Amino acid sequence: MRKIEELVNLFKSRELKITPQRLGIFKILEGNTSHPSAENIFHEIRHIYPMISFTTVYKTLEVLESLGEILKITIDGTRKYYDPNTTPHHHTICSRCNMIADVNEEFDMPRLPGEILDKFTPSNYHISFYGNCRECFGEVKDVSTI
Ligand SMILES: [Zn+2]
Ligand SMILES: [Zn+2]
Repeated sequence: MRKIEELVNLFKSRELKITPQRLGIFKILEGNTSHPSAENIFHEIRHIYPMISFTTVYKTLEVLESLGEILKITIDGTRKYYDPNTTPHHHTICSRCNMIADVNEEFDMPRLPGEILDKFTPSNYHISFYGNCRECFGEVKDVSTI
C-alpha cells in the first residue's frame, strides 16, 4: 500500500470518496503486518468511529484491493484477510487460530512440468506454509500430556 497522502490523491483522481472513516481505515492498514480480517478492522475502527458500518469497512477494503493497494488472502474459501504489503512474500498460516505471518525469505520458484509451461507462463508465486503457531502448538502439547 502506498503512503496515505498518495492514496488520498489516487482516490481523488479516480473520483472515489475520501471520508474521515476511510482515512481511519487507511491508518489502521498502514504498516500493518497482522493480516487483519474485515471484522478485525471493523472492531478497531469502531473505537474511533462508533457509528461506522461494517459495509463501509468492507467496501473500502474491496476498493483498495481492486486498486492493487492491498492483497486479499483467502483461507478455506470463506475467511478473508488483508495484507497492505503487496511486494512478493510468503506466509505461514496457523491451521488452528488462522494467524498469518510474513516469510520474507526468497525461495526458488517450484518447477512446473513442461505440459503446464506449454500453456501457461508463471510470473509470480506465493507459498503458504500451513501448521501450528507457537501458542497453538503449546496448547496441543498440553492436551497430549494430560
Ligand atoms: Zn495458532
Ligand atoms: Zn503478508
